[in-house]
Amino acid sequence: MAKVIFWLVVFFLVLLALRLFSAHQARRRRDESAERQRGHTEPMIRCGQCGVYLPKSSAKLTDRGYGCGDEHCANRR
Ligand SMILES: [Zn+2]
Repeated sequence: MAKVIFWLVVFFLVLLALRLFSAHQARRRRDESAERQRGHTEPMIRCGQCGVYLPKSSAKLTDRGYGCGDEHCANRR
C-alpha cells in the first residue's frame, strides 16, 4: 500500500511541476508579445533635415530638431 501512495505522490509532483513550467512559458510569451506591441507603438518622428521617419529612440537631437544621424543627412547641412 505504501508503494501506491508513493507513486501517487510522485505523479502529483510531476503534474505540479508541469503546470508550473507551462505557466512560466505562458507568462514569458505574454511578456514578449507586450514588448513587441510597445515597439509598434513607439512614436515615429520626422528627421528635420532629410525628412525621413524613424523611431524616436534611434533619432538624435540636433540643433535643428530631431535628426536621423545618417551621414547623408549630416552632409545636407
Ligand atoms: Zn535625416
